[in-house]
Amino acid sequence: MNEINAQELIKKLLQYIGEDPDREGLVDTPERVVASYEKLFSGYKQRPEDVLTVFGDESYDEMIVVRDIEFYSMCEHHMLPFFGKVQVGYIPDGKIIGLSKIPRLVEIFARRLQNQERMTSQIAKALYDILKPKGVGVIVEAQHFCMMARGVEKQGSTVTTSALQGLFKRELTTRSEFLRHVGK
Ligand code: ZN
Repeated sequence: MNEINAQELIKKLLQYIGEDPDREGLVDTPERVVASYEKLFSGYKQRPEDVLTVFGDESYDEMIVVRDIEFYSMCEHHMLPFFGKVQVGYIPDGKIIGLSKIPRLVEIFARRLQNQERMTSQIAKALYDILKPKGVGVIVEAQHFCMMARGVEKQGSTVTTSALQGLFKRELTTRSEFLRHVGK
């Protein structure tokens, strides 16, 4: 499907909800919606292995934690936003990555239709598989527009998910250290 077809569908959707797609404020809306999808769903065009370029640093073997990575995603059930923060920790095994690469990895998985559980484990698994560290921990806290606006749950409630790999899964002390770093 091309951009023009997609814009036509948005126009139909506007009619469906009872709008006049030809009124002044809405004339360019289909074009804008489709353009915004370029960003919101840009994750489909990127692969984690392209972002996670690894370099060797044999000397550092302590836990590395990147806190409060903001993300914006779209839930696959309603195509409505969910958004929040990601905490990522790992213990290197001879290889580290640039710290800015971790937020980029989060972006790749967030900029798709997602559910929070899968997004959390995809981030952890990609780091674990590509970097091959001793362990990885990922915690995602998010608010879901579909819960907030549709009145299914209390407004402002936060959903927390976590995914642990390697030492983070096996060793209580490692897990506790991670939780302490991220203030849990
Ligand atoms: Zn939803």
